[in-house]
Amino acid sequence: MKDFAKLDNALLCTHCGFCLPVCPTYRAENKEIQSPRGRVSAILALRNGTLTAKETGKALSYCLLCRACHSACPAGVKVGKLVMTARSLAKIAKPWTVRLFHFITDHAPVSRPVTRLVRFYQKSPLRKEVKKRRWLTNLPWIQRLDNLIPELPPAYTTVAASPRKNPLRVALLCGCMARMFYPNVETATVSLMSHLDVELFHLEGFGCCGAPHRESGNRKAFVRQARKVLDRYRLLAEKIDAIVCDTAVCRVTVMSYARLLANDPDYGPLAEQFGARVVDFSALVLARCGDPTRFFPNPPPEKIAFVDHCQTQHASGTMGSPRELLAAILCEQTKLPRSDQCCGAGGDTMLTHRYHSERVRKDKLKAIEESGASIVVGANAGCLLNMEAGLKKAGRSLQVRHLAEILLEASNNFKNYT
Ligand code: SF4
Ligand code: SF4
Repeated sequence: MKDFAKLDNALLCTHCGFCLPVCPTYRAENKEIQSPRGRVSAILALRNGTLTAKETGKALSYCLLCRACHSACPAGVKVGKLVMTARSLAKIAKPWTVRLFHFITDHAPVSRPVTRLVRFYQKSPLRKEVKKRRWLTNLPWIQRLDNLIPELPPAYTTVAASPRKNPLRVALLCGCMARMFYPNVETATVSLMSHLDVELFHLEGFGCCGAPHRESGNRKAFVRQARKVLDRYRLLAEKIDAIVCDTAVCRVTVMSYARLLANDPDYGPLAEQFGARVVDFSALVLARCGDPTRFFPNPPPEKIAFVDHCQTQHASGTMGSPRELLAAILCEQTKLPRSDQCCGAGGDTMLTHRYHSERVRKDKLKAIEESGASIVVGANAGCLLNMEAGLKKAGRSLQVRHLAEILLEASNNFKNYT
């Protein structure tokens, strides 16, 4: 069948097993079907008709799409990509609650009031009552979501710098999860950029980059989101020099638009131009701050553990710059063992397969615990939510912060909280 030709890469597998030790789900569960090699076998069974698309989709549903197996495989098998393709063939519907959540994040006019509601709930005494009286016990999915909502940090008072003559003109994509759950991330990014002589533009009505649809194999919805982003970019294309994302998974996702739309005569060239303009947030800060120790004279005194975003490392191979930046501003850092390993968030996985996700997270939490770090820092809101919920559940009081917050507070322009 024509569609199954997309799975041909699986034929390269020699079943050598080099990928097993790097796969977080195999490490957590020790089952062949939870390994990249096991997933290749399921995909080959689909290809030769032994398994149906639905059966295969179910067998593959715990894959976190971290791509660690891509880096480890000597034969060039791309299991993460194959899993995405197989999921798109299986067309397994997500639970309605997940679909509702994505409907909200996809549509900015809907997500804005919902974000205000989340903010109200984060601040209100109602939340404590809900927990104390265990009102959500019979609503497990809502309870899961509630457990993931972080405490609201004190808000920043920021003062923007006046633009100079020739600022760098940058479009900022604020990830939907960061916008909804970590309000300080956007404030910190905007403030930092203004002091780095960057003029920021926002993509009017930007909802979500499409990452959840990409990962669940819903190609139609992913194409729709990509086109929506590109339509908004089209309006700014002449005005900007670069694009920056405050969330790691958005960066990986928007950079995949060019491949997604390669055969689209209207959007393909635009997607290509868009991808070429995406720059790494940390690299941009480092390039524009001049002397890092003068621009950031107040690094946190506590030891930092930076949690890498697995797809950024294994899919786009750019993991070094946040650490390089933190080192340049003289932060004390500790490198976690297997730091490139997924934390278990895996997009929706932390909601749809909580037990499997938590088994993977346990390994990361143990590494953090043993590292002696007091602050966990990351650049991907999903990882931060997952880490923070895990630490809270374990009764640990470590801070979990986004890189932009750490940078703003270390900078010589940081004034105070409100
Ligand atoms: S996916 Fe690659 S590393 Fe894993 S068993 Fe197959 S050939 Fe070996
Ligand atoms: S993408 Fe990650 S979770 Fe999935 S098979 Fe590869 S290493 Fe395992």
